[in-house]
Amino acid sequence: MIDCIFCKILNNEIPSTKLYEDEGVYAFLDIRPISKGHALVVPKRHSETFLDMASEDIDSLFKTTQKVATAVMEAMNADGFNIGMANFPAAGQSVPHSHVHIIPRFSDDGLKHWSGGESNDLEEIQKKIVKFL
Ligand code: AMP
Ligand code: ZN
Repeated sequence: MIDCIFCKILNNEIPSTKLYEDEGVYAFLDIRPISKGHALVVPKRHSETFLDMASEDIDSLFKTTQKVATAVMEAMNADGFNIGMANFPAAGQSVPHSHVHIIPRFSDDGLKHWSGGESNDLEEIQKKIVKFL
């Protein structure tokens, strides 16, 4: 038995504010929202990150993300939304069960975007990555 907080939510061992579920995925509100309506969508089958997800779970996770994001936009009267997925602790993943964040955005919410940097080594980086594809 894996000691995973999202698996416990899926098994009804701890409560959650459910928005939607089907055979493969479950959506609920984040307990520490970045903005009002911040939702999480998780595959029911445990996987730790995007990299070890079964491809049918990827399909259903992203289809459901679109469905829930559409509802969140309407319900919260949002001006936009971010979807995001932290993978591995270095990227800020705090719960090791794959999940997509849906974060409603408002024109005046003051949240900052990532800023870009230098790009004088794109071809060198391209060569490194393409070797693995
Ligand atoms: P991450 O840091 O990207 O792994 O995201 C994990 C998210 O799960 C955080 O935004 C937490 O606020 C949220 N979270 C943790 N525990 C719960 C819980 N019991 N119910 C709802 N959201 C949770
Ligand atoms: Zn889990």
